[in-house]
Amino acid sequence: MRIVIQKEKCIGCEICVNTCPEVFMEWGLHMRSVFEVRDPDRRRALLIEQVAGDCPAGAITVDSGESEVSGKGG
Ligand code: SF4
Repeated sequence: MRIVIQKEKCIGCEICVNTCPEVFMEWGLHMRSVFEVRDPDRRRALLIEQVAGDCPAGAITVDSGESEVSGKGG
């Protein structure tokens, strides 16, 4: 699962960090705007999608990438 945060859209409300800190702390602490969550369980995957939907700035994009094969460079 790939998460992309558009820095220029983010208003810093920290809803994402507070709702799902295990995942979005990367953003809160390091401003890392692209990160992968490998094999999230169903509950976490739903939570991540919920957070993306709740972002008031529409800054979070989630690609579940279910059919992607890992290991490719690019
Ligand atoms: S929820 Fe959206 S606007 Fe708020 S901190 Fe996260 S990315 Fe930024």
